[in-house]
Amino acid sequence: MRKQLLEIAHRFAADNLSPGTSGNISAREPDGRTFWITPSGMDFSQLLEADLVEIDVASGSIASGNRVPSSEVPLHVLTYQRRPDVKGIVHAHSLFAAVFSTLNRPIKAVHYQIARVGDEVPVADYATYGTDELADRATNALGQGNAVLLKNHGLIAVGNSIRDAYRNALDVEWVAHLYFLGLQIGEPDVLTHEELERVRDQFKDYGQKF
Ligand code: 13P
Ligand code: ZN
Repeated sequence: MRKQLLEIAHRFAADNLSPGTSGNISAREPDGRTFWITPSGMDFSQLLEADLVEIDVASGSIASGNRVPSSEVPLHVLTYQRRPDVKGIVHAHSLFAAVFSTLNRPIKAVHYQIARVGDEVPVADYATYGTDELADRATNALGQGNAVLLKNHGLIAVGNSIRDAYRNALDVEWVAHLYFLGLQIGEPDVLTHEELERVRDQFKDYGQKF
């Protein structure tokens, strides 16, 4: 888990998804009882396995590690508690997702690439970063979807692995960028729930079998 988390942390840095030391990511152990999270305020490109911190899902307390964990531990803990299916979480201040968060405007399905995430990406009410209030509002707005915007803040994407959560974060950011550009010219068309269901069905067989 630590290796996978570190691999995604380094990609996160290389992809420039979030400015400075903003954002945090975590990966849950297969037994579901603990997860590994990035340390607070450190450059993702420089992270080592020893910088990661293990957190107990039930209590939210530190299980192992020497660094101060991300300030968003409450958000990751509550997400894992309320969504047993979630195995990885990515939080980023990615630019175009953050733009829609400031407008309190959900990211609509203007492209089928959003299908894995849900029919749209909703916006959770504002709360100060790192608080239990933010964790509660974000997980409520997330529901059973795979991404949510944090008002005037950024994006959370979840998945059934940290790699899956990261792909979902990139998909949301790309659709947000596309939607933003479309809105400069007019009002982009939005795909229907039925069409998105068809896409989700087709995605099951997408790509290579081996
Ligand atoms: P951390 O560096 O403590 O993870 O905080 C970054 C952040 O994005 C808080 O919302
Ligand atoms: Zn943040």
